[in-house]
Amino acid sequence: MSGNRTFTMIKPDAVEKGHIGGILNMIAEGGFRIVSMKLTQLTVADAQQFYAIHKERPFFGELVEFMTRGPIVAAILEKENAVEDFRTLIGATNPADAAEGTIRKKYATSIGENAVHGSDSDENAAIEGAFHFAGREQF
Ligand code: ATP
Ligand code: MG
Repeated sequence: MSGNRTFTMIKPDAVEKGHIGGILNMIAEGGFRIVSMKLTQLTVADAQQFYAIHKERPFFGELVEFMTRGPIVAAILEKENAVEDFRTLIGATNPADAAEGTIRKKYATSIGENAVHGSDSDENAAIEGAFHFAGREQF
């Protein structure tokens, strides 16, 4: 990955509510191409590793429980300036602060159950994409 790719997850809350299609439509309308995608479920160890940066935070246990409670969609997305543009498309972590027209404004219900993940740097996009699709990017 070199500045034009990011990694996303459609989180368990959004999958449970049947929002996979709506969110993928917003991603496509936002100009992103899907490079790799799968429906999967995180184990507790996966979620602890994925969000290890937050392990000292008070919400870490709740975050791991949430992210493992049902299926997610994991995907690598491509677009010029992908990381920054995708963070703009998803909106603020807390949907109360998310701008109109963002995925979290439309689909998130709380700061914890906020529908989607987006990588926060090119470096993390590469690490997170490899975590889910190591050596298996096809296109
Ligand atoms: P993500 O990394 O999932 O894209 P983000 O970068 O917007 O989200 P982070 O600060 O990295 O936000 O937090 C990671 C995730 O942890 C959030 O998306 C949310 O699901 C959860 N989280 C963050 N803050 C809180 C909180 N105060 N209470 C409960 N859960 C939280
Ligand atoms: Mg984050």
